[in-house]
Amino acid sequence: MVLDAPTAVCAEVDPELWFPEKGGSTRDPKRLCRSCPLMAACLEWALDHPSESRHGVWGGMSEGERYALRRRRRTLAPAVTGADDDELAEVA
Ligand code: SF4
Repeated sequence: MVLDAPTAVCAEVDPELWFPEKGGSTRDPKRLCRSCPLMAACLEWALDHPSESRHGVWGGMSEGERYALRRRRRTLAPAVTGADDDELAEVA
């Protein structure tokens, strides 16, 4: 039996919707991302690859939201793990 792989919602809609003009609304692509079976994996990929996902909505988050989440994670990581930045860099 072959299972169907989940399909990204953005693969079935005009991809330009995920890249609104500067200052444009991100409401519609975020809403569509929330119905996407790949949302969590997409967001993690975008967070791990900021230069490749610099623009647009990925994993239900705008550029600014992803930037803020990356900063929060960097801030929280030492508090959660007890590791300092040098130790975290060694395992990254
Ligand atoms: S979560 Fe990622 S893969 Fe899914 S629709 Fe949004 S941008 Fe596309």
